[in-house]
Amino acid sequence: MPEPVIHWSLADIGFMSRALELARSGLGHTMPNPSVGCVLVQDGLIVGEGRTQAGGRPHGEAIALAMAGLKASGSLAYVTLEPCAHDSMRGPACSTSLVEAGIGDVTISVLDPDPRTRGLGVARLESAGIGVRLGLLAEQGQQQIAGFEKRLRTGFPWVHVGRDDGTFDAVMGNLQATDLAAYLADAGANGVMRLCLLPGSAAAVQAVALSLVDSYD
Ligand SMILES: [Zn+2]
Repeated sequence: MPEPVIHWSLADIGFMSRALELARSGLGHTMPNPSVGCVLVQDGLIVGEGRTQAGGRPHGEAIALAMAGLKASGSLAYVTLEPCAHDSMRGPACSTSLVEAGIGDVTISVLDPDPRTRGLGVARLESAGIGVRLGLLAEQGQQQIAGFEKRLRTGFPWVHVGRDDGTFDAVMGNLQATDLAAYLADAGANGVMRLCLLPGSAAAVQAVALSLVDSYD
């Protein structure tokens, strides 16, 4: 694992902020996968950027690499979540794609919380001789994947009681299930990471009573 970085440059912070902004724009649209932002920088300029697409693929790295084209070679990558390490029927692993594109250093906000893949993306990059830095704006990075992390850990989505700001995978007003816990388990199994319960709704009242609320407006 990379050593923790103590001092980040303003440029580093700016580029990761852009990656986080991209990722944020995908919240509520990328289920079952987390929304991940990626920015590629060549000579101080952004040459490619992207985020996870609707439905969870392509991933942000693939979009950014396609946009950068040949300029990806030697560029610096800023990614909000550790690049994935498992090849899928729907595309190659992003850590492999970054290696093949000849990327320079990679800066990651947070590691993949999935214990089966955590650290493997970093390991693949490092074994190809790519420098990896970890932990830039990690608090924001962690906040963005809180729903993904909670679903992995508990099977339930992140439950928010408040207004629907468009960043949720699902919004529930009327209670559609008598057993909210069963409903949450079902939603999680279907990929929902972020669930909004409208204030005052029967679902919100039950969630509060059962201590199933993670955040409020
Ligand atoms: Zn990926």
